[in-house]
Amino acid sequence: MSLTENDPVARRRTFAIISHPDAGKTTLTEKLLLFGGAIQLAGEVRAKANRRQTRSDWMDIERQRGISVVTSVMTFEHAGCVFNLLDTPGHEDFSEDTYRTLSAVDSAVMVIDAARGIESRTRKLFEVCRLRDIPIVTFINKLDRETRDPFDLLDEIEKVLALDTAPMTWPIGRGRAFAGTYDLARNMIRKLDSDVTAPMTPVDGPRDPVIRALLPAHEADAAIDELELARDACRPFDEQAYLEGHLTPVFFGSALRTFGVADLINALATFAPPPKGLQAESRFVEAHEKKMSGFVFKIQANMDPNHRDRIAFMRVSSGRLTRGMKAKLVRTGKPMALNAPQFFFAQERALAEEAYPGDVVGIPNHGTLRIGDTLTEGEDLVFRGVPSFAPEILRRVKLTDAMKAKKLREALQQMAEEGVVQTFVPYDGSGAMVGVVGALQLDVLAERLQAEYGLPVSFEPSRFEICRWVTGEATELNKFLAAYPSSTASDLDGAPVFLATSAFTLRYEQERWPSITFSDIKDYQ
Ligand code: GDP
Repeated sequence: MSLTENDPVARRRTFAIISHPDAGKTTLTEKLLLFGGAIQLAGEVRAKANRRQTRSDWMDIERQRGISVVTSVMTFEHAGCVFNLLDTPGHEDFSEDTYRTLSAVDSAVMVIDAARGIESRTRKLFEVCRLRDIPIVTFINKLDRETRDPFDLLDEIEKVLALDTAPMTWPIGRGRAFAGTYDLARNMIRKLDSDVTAPMTPVDGPRDPVIRALLPAHEADAAIDELELARDACRPFDEQAYLEGHLTPVFFGSALRTFGVADLINALATFAPPPKGLQAESRFVEAHEKKMSGFVFKIQANMDPNHRDRIAFMRVSSGRLTRGMKAKLVRTGKPMALNAPQFFFAQERALAEEAYPGDVVGIPNHGTLRIGDTLTEGEDLVFRGVPSFAPEILRRVKLTDAMKAKKLREALQQMAEEGVVQTFVPYDGSGAMVGVVGALQLDVLAERLQAEYGLPVSFEPSRFEICRWVTGEATELNKFLAAYPSSTASDLDGAPVFLATSAFTLRYEQERWPSITFSDIKDYQ
């Protein structure tokens, strides 16, 4: 324990919550922050969401539609640990940002609505977590309402996500009869509506009269049999399998009633992984190394309309970041003084005097930093952590004023560097295309081009529907690109992509060119 106390890396838990809209992510976030004492009043997370009017022009869209576009970081302490909860945009049109945020966490909490089970967005986000085998703790929420059979829910997780489950707690009664949870391994119960910080009550197995007394008489036998079955038949928790991303411990609870939240936060403190090292191109970088390194996973423009600034969100991956230190931006080789790194809280930002691996700091800049950039204390490290996802919508940008084509090119380049959209320039010299994962990104793009660059634009459909990064041995790849000058293009970093008009065309070309790899994910840089 003393090791952990003195070791800032071992104390950190950097995580995100993945869920389908309405499963209870916001409510759970509020309750976690309450536990951590990061803010005094529950409800502030939501209040903040409604109070963004002072932010910036393009966030008008966000306000009008009542959705959360901004990723923020919330830090709180509990049980000797420092938790960094990286919030992700709730709207699925902004899934690109969400995906990138998941590249900056060490573990995730998957919130599932007990009446609905695995929903589409949860599945999609889970797939992104699986790319890195991120360990996942599952919280099955809304147990205070009518729910599906817990065995069914576990079965669904196992089948749909191909993820083993180990229930840690089990509901005692369901729906209106929900009375608390039973800790399967420790033989203890937590009663609904007991004080959130109250210790659990030890029991003598599922047949203990204390449990029976909590249940309506006509449901007691069935509920007790179910507890016994769960205890005897379910897979036990295996920490190694969890850390490898093959098994998820499952907790049942109700975020609204602050029930089960203590179990969840204690689980994160006990077995969620602290920041691990990170693979750079040249070598593996341990979190405990002395020298600071970090990577940018998100850029937020104009958070404060009074200082038209850009904030790069950087996750520290090794060493210690101190305010005022000189860092090297590896992509350009240029030095960069970190004079005003910032921490973000649910409400505010504050200057960060020092930050450790797992922490996220905001670095104000005027366009120097890009998504995927690495900052170090001198070494030429390149982390490959932040992926790019193939856009699902491709459009040509139409400019009302043809004289401004050059300005548009510059503006698009900047928007692409910030990760607002991806840009693709066809090799045959035809006009650039933009690609997005969700249609709302196009609205944001149009609004920002107008507001910040005075460029009124509209979007024209493109004949292409699918975009894939292509890689392969150089001669073979060049042959491929030369064969299709009008359906290949280069992305922001000059990497070649193949544009297909349909899934059929893509499959056809894949079969014709077996030596070329067509990929829907690309690492940045
Ligand atoms: P998000 O979209 O995932 O952030 O979901 P919210 O936290 O906004 O919750 C969606 C709705 O479900 C809100 O009306 C919440 O009050 C409600 N809710 C969240 N958790 C629970 C719960 O444990 N029980 C019940 N009955 N309702 C809940």
